[in-house]
Amino acid sequence: MTTEHQVLNPATEEVVASVPATTPAEVDTAVRRAAAAQRIWAAMAPADRARLLRRFAAAVDGHREELARLEVVEAGHTLANARWEAGNVRDLLEFAAGGVERLSGRQIPVPGGIDLTLLEPLGVVGVIAPWNFPMPIAAWGVAPALAAGNAVLLKPAETTPLTALRLARLALDEGLPEHLFQVLPGAGAETGNALVEHPGVAKIVFTGSTRVGKQIMARCAERVKRLTLELGGKSPNIVFADADIEAAAAAAPMAFLDNAGQDCCARTRILVQRSAYDRFLELLAPAVASVVVGDPSDEKTRMGPLISRAQLERVRSYVPDGATAIRGGAPEGPGFWFPPTVLTDARPDSPVATEEVFGPVAVVLPFEDEADAVRLANATEYGLAGSIWTRDVGRALRVSQAVQAGNLSVNSHSSVRYWTPFGGYKQSGLGRELGPDALTAFTETKNVFISTEA
Ligand code: NAD
Repeated sequence: MTTEHQVLNPATEEVVASVPATTPAEVDTAVRRAAAAQRIWAAMAPADRARLLRRFAAAVDGHREELARLEVVEAGHTLANARWEAGNVRDLLEFAAGGVERLSGRQIPVPGGIDLTLLEPLGVVGVIAPWNFPMPIAAWGVAPALAAGNAVLLKPAETTPLTALRLARLALDEGLPEHLFQVLPGAGAETGNALVEHPGVAKIVFTGSTRVGKQIMARCAERVKRLTLELGGKSPNIVFADADIEAAAAAAPMAFLDNAGQDCCARTRILVQRSAYDRFLELLAPAVASVVVGDPSDEKTRMGPLISRAQLERVRSYVPDGATAIRGGAPEGPGFWFPPTVLTDARPDSPVATEEVFGPVAVVLPFEDEADAVRLANATEYGLAGSIWTRDVGRALRVSQAVQAGNLSVNSHSSVRYWTPFGGYKQSGLGRELGPDALTAFTETKNVFISTEA
């Protein structure tokens, strides 16, 4: 019997769709079909592959509003964010399309001949995506993998398969070979695991929790399967006393409240130099209270609901009753709502200050000096992102070098651009996505020596 996954609107708890899960036998069929499609795709002229990807990008652009509204309904994203996300998929496809004809190997000087490196596609790539940014994160893997000549099997999260299914349909309608890009909805432990263990899948790109990432890494090790991991985070927002404190306090709320805090880069550890601590908190409280939380399809809303009841319970469990906190408002009634919350008396070693909450909850902690700030920032198993607020350029550079994280921003909270590299230090991940080398991550390098000896 086929299992079905119900997709709920997290703002209303209404069932919006029911999607059949892909069985391991169906995964096997999908892999074999994808392998055949990949051979056709890789044999096409690079310019033709690039043209088809650009057409796919144009179709995404043409369906931007529809895709955005689907994301609002299945993931509770605010409309403004969801529109940006659909546009991001278009941009990722265009950027990747531009790389098809630039995916060059090298010619390396050697005695007695010519040495060439060939960048060959891997074959069939499995992309396993989380629910927090269903569209962009899927496209981080799908777009460069296709551009590098691979077929892609995408397993979306159980709660958010709808935009993925729509994207695959658009690709097919625009003329990408049948079975080249397939979406396989289903549970992680069944459908996802079948993809990870299938000998016909050459690489897994996994974005999700560190816990599941470790399990997948162990399974991939059995076959030395290629693997990229984008995992959790507990990113610091370091505010030095010499910073523009008004600007730092104004920006701090959305740095952890965007997507209701369900963001791997969320700056959930706000570290503030002690001499500016009281002033910062005075400014932070009204900034948090002013964030409009509510119906995600309303254009004025800045924060929507959490994805599910399970996530709501998890977030609640981190915030003790009676904790001293700065709080914002949230709707009552149906939907998975949790108010913006900044704990002001959490211990630095407490679970809320060290574990990824994945909700609209941050802690604020004082530090003494630069060395203390760096020590606190690095006192975590994660290393995904971070922000540094200071007017001292030398300090900005020193601290950027000292913080062990893959994506830092100075006097800003920006982390992700499709043309700059993204990924984690420590237990936040393995490998990099996006950026100038995005396509190379989906190739094998083959070295060929050609003798010129007579
Ligand atoms: P999750 O690990 O529970 O699931 C992620 C995906 O893996 C889902 O599609 C799930 O079905 C699948 N899966 C689960 N168990 C599996 C298994 N045994 N084998 C194969 N697939 C399996 O994560 P989530 O709750 O969906 O997402 C939230 C997490 O993702 C957070 O920890 C967050 O930090 C992380 N994340 C990281 C990044 C990044 O780029 N570093 C980006 C977004 C989210």
